[in-house]
Amino acid sequence: MSEINTFEDLGLSAETLRALKEAGYEKPTPIQAQAIPHILMARDLVGLAQTGTGKTAGFTLPMIDILSTGRARARMPRSLVLAPTRELAAQVAESFEKYGQYHNLSKALLVGGEAMGDQMKILDQGVDVLIATPGRLLDLFDRGTLILSDMKVLVIDEADRMLDMGFIPDIEKIVSKLPPFRQTLLFSATMPDEVKRLTEKFLSNPRTVSVAPPATTSKNITQHLAWVDSRQKMDALAALIKQENVTNAFIFCNRKRDISALCSFLNKKGFSAEAMHGDLVQKQRTETLAKFKKGDLKLLVCSDVAARGLDVSNVSHVFNYDIPMHADDYVHRIGRTGRAGKTGVSWSLAVKKTDDKFVAAIEKITNEKLPVSDISALLKGDKPKAKPQHEKRDDKEKSPARREKTAQAKPRYNNDHHDDGPDVVGFGDDIPSFMR
Ligand code: AMP
Repeated sequence: MSEINTFEDLGLSAETLRALKEAGYEKPTPIQAQAIPHILMARDLVGLAQTGTGKTAGFTLPMIDILSTGRARARMPRSLVLAPTRELAAQVAESFEKYGQYHNLSKALLVGGEAMGDQMKILDQGVDVLIATPGRLLDLFDRGTLILSDMKVLVIDEADRMLDMGFIPDIEKIVSKLPPFRQTLLFSATMPDEVKRLTEKFLSNPRTVSVAPPATTSKNITQHLAWVDSRQKMDALAALIKQENVTNAFIFCNRKRDISALCSFLNKKGFSAEAMHGDLVQKQRTETLAKFKKGDLKLLVCSDVAARGLDVSNVSHVFNYDIPMHADDYVHRIGRTGRAGKTGVSWSLAVKKTDDKFVAAIEKITNEKLPVSDISALLKGDKPKAKPQHEKRDDKEKSPARREKTAQAKPRYNNDHHDDGPDVVGFGDDIPSFMR
């Protein structure tokens, strides 16, 4: 399949593209880029992806286009999404609402805790998309309110959580009532044997696509976040480089034009720094990189694009001069240090208001609070105060079983049935060592 970079490349309808534009999404996430073309081609699909990877849009977007032709008959839904919890089911329903706003599809949400009468009324009018938790769906089916024989698409979302919650027998019962000629999509973060068995039983010659679990940062990296005034960023960076024991470092900027300005500033301060970004001629990039690798250049001031694929061992520090706008870039950036069992340090400079949402997005995908260091004293010439490292956000709240599962979760299959070792997408050909 040719490379997918934009939503337009995916073959989605103009109405769906319009809704995506309004949602403000710039490009498909890796799971979307991989899954959507297969789903639009009516293939069965196993998607190995967790919440946070954009998997919900990965199935709702193509389903909206698939279901845009045809009409639902009373009590005969045309598609079914099974989700393990009410909250997840509600999120899926919101996705259909958001991405399907320029289509005329009807949907119903069947979850426990809602009045059954209302849900039955909606079903009577005919629904294109039925989103349900397994228990409530079976309740309604047993009352004869539902006819499942017109089902064209079935999605089993978060199959491993379904397993944890004891829903597998319910799912088997539900699927046994569906017509055999249908498209089935199964999403799961992990692939325990029971879930594997489900895929073998209910999916027909499925494609498998997989993305890395939402980023985890290496425990070998000591992370710091410093809130600074935007006008202080250059001075803050110079002060940090001076006080940290920097052997060599990547310094990441979001914009190319800032790279040259920052390089000049650092050179004036007496540091050996050179630029690395996509507009430089290849020869220059190769020479700069060679110097950096040899240790003749201490600081490489770069953009994400230029740094992708660079494997330099023994990098002591990573500085995020700018907080990245895409949270997964953060993990990629800091993963330049702390490689191959070595330790490393990262510093990120954030500006209040501008960067709040980007910091929050990073904390969401890494499931980790970024340790804040107060560097105001350093800017006046003293040492910064650092808070303790790696406060996990909700580990204490997780059940032991769930914690164990998270710990075991690692990238598994590649797409298209190559089962010859883990293949992580979303990081180009440069997989951070902690994901290998
Ligand atoms: P999910 O993994 O489906 O729970 O999605 C995680 C979050 O990513 C949701 O808040 C979505 O709105 C958001 N999202 C999904 N696709 C994209 C995209 N292509 N670009 C930016 N955000 C997205």
